[in-house]
Amino acid sequence: MKIRYDSIKNNVVDVDRAFEFEESLDIYNVKEFKGRLEKVGKQYILNGNLSYSLTSRCDRCLESTTVDGEAVISQVVSNIEVVSDIVESDGLRDEEVDVYVTAIDHFDIDEFLREEVLLLTPSKKLCSEECGGINY
Ligand SMILES: [Zn+2]
Repeated sequence: MKIRYDSIKNNVVDVDRAFEFEESLDIYNVKEFKGRLEKVGKQYILNGNLSYSLTSRCDRCLESTTVDGEAVISQVVSNIEVVSDIVESDGLRDEEVDVYVTAIDHFDIDEFLREEVLLLTPSKKLCSEECGGINY
């Protein structure tokens, strides 16, 4: 879902998202994200609770395995124009500003949640730490 900045009324918008996506044969499920995007000065703060799961094949034995997780999200969100202004006026470099940078006119919340879930889930997938592998 894309949130257009010019459609936000009274500087706040409630967010309620749930969707699935696939990434290299793994199935990621954003089971629920409930939160709000609030305008603070020129920037926005996204706060909310995320619950997700990842269904994939174990790297060792290839059995299907699902991990669940939850996270509290608190993220400064800013469009590219505002971020360039901050970088210029404070002499900071892009990577020193802990801001999720969006297009000028909208915030793609699904894309943000997708990246967040990918960061939160392990890149190495095991059904259990003790998994002995395919010949076990
Ligand atoms: Zn395994």
